[in-house]
Amino acid sequence: MASLQITICAMSTMPEDQPLVCDLARAHPTKVVPCFGYHPWFTYRISIHPSTSKDDHYRSLFLPTSSQDQCQDPAHISAYQRLLPLLPDPIGLDYILSELRRNLEAFPEAMLGEVGLDRAFRVPFDYYAERRELTPFTVPFDHQLAILEAQLELAVELGRNVSIHSVKSQLATAELLAKMQIKHQENWSRISLDLHSCGLSPESWRDIERKYKNVFLSLSTVINSRSPNHRALIATCSPTRLLVESDFHNVDKCTERTWDMVKTVAEVRGWPLESEWIDDLDEDDWGTVRKLEENWFRFKKGYHATSSGTVATRQSK
Ligand SMILES: [Zn+2]
Repeated sequence: MASLQITICAMSTMPEDQPLVCDLARAHPTKVVPCFGYHPWFTYRISIHPSTSKDDHYRSLFLPTSSQDQCQDPAHISAYQRLLPLLPDPIGLDYILSELRRNLEAFPEAMLGEVGLDRAFRVPFDYYAERRELTPFTVPFDHQLAILEAQLELAVELGRNVSIHSVKSQLATAELLAKMQIKHQENWSRISLDLHSCGLSPESWRDIERKYKNVFLSLSTVINSRSPNHRALIATCSPTRLLVESDFHNVDKCTERTWDMVKTVAEVRGWPLESEWIDDLDEDDWGTVRKLEENWFRFKKGYHATSSGTVATRQSK
């Protein structure tokens, strides 16, 4: 952290790392934008009905009686029996939300993140194992959605920006944005949303960009460089909605990884890349870093125009 020369948005994902992000932001207030939230990969540890037992909770997610075939599949039953003792006691959603509120309120600049939807993730037997062995279980989509929506409600209420993970959930993500916009109107437009390491098709992104003024697209080399799709996304995206990120867990690599994506954006868009920093520059002379910086400022500021064209106004609390 001492040698870090950029500001990072440090994401939380699970119960154990919320206090770590909190500590990091307290220790390095000028270098860390703390982000609190529960990632879809760990939502199985959250119980929507807090009075259920550990076994009932995990059984309802992984061996649901509504899907008889899966429930009676001997391979699933034995995987479940092996997995259950390795799982922690579930934590109630109410508790999660009150802790999230406390953390967000403690840091006025804090964002909600990383939250989202993931249809590809399979629950591992031991997440921390060197070679992660996967169970046959995914986290039911309705469960992920309920937890995401509850967190988004809080972000809207507190006026906080959001980093959203969306994997193999293109349609559901689009439907959720539509639902939130209808439900929250101006309050929705005052927050910004980042589709982080965005894997949407260029067509889907264009549709989202047209409908919502508050959604930004960010790309990372770690995730997006696996597919040539990211270059098409960079080419398609409005120059005012593009962001870059590292999506990397090791802080030593954050700057370098982000810079790699800056270079890709410069190359695809044909924008010049700064080799020195000049304070006063005409917008026509802006390079890639300056353009991306401006997008980040707009993302941070929020209060976007709604689809009907009105601008959300600052509300007194
Ligand atoms: Zn992610």
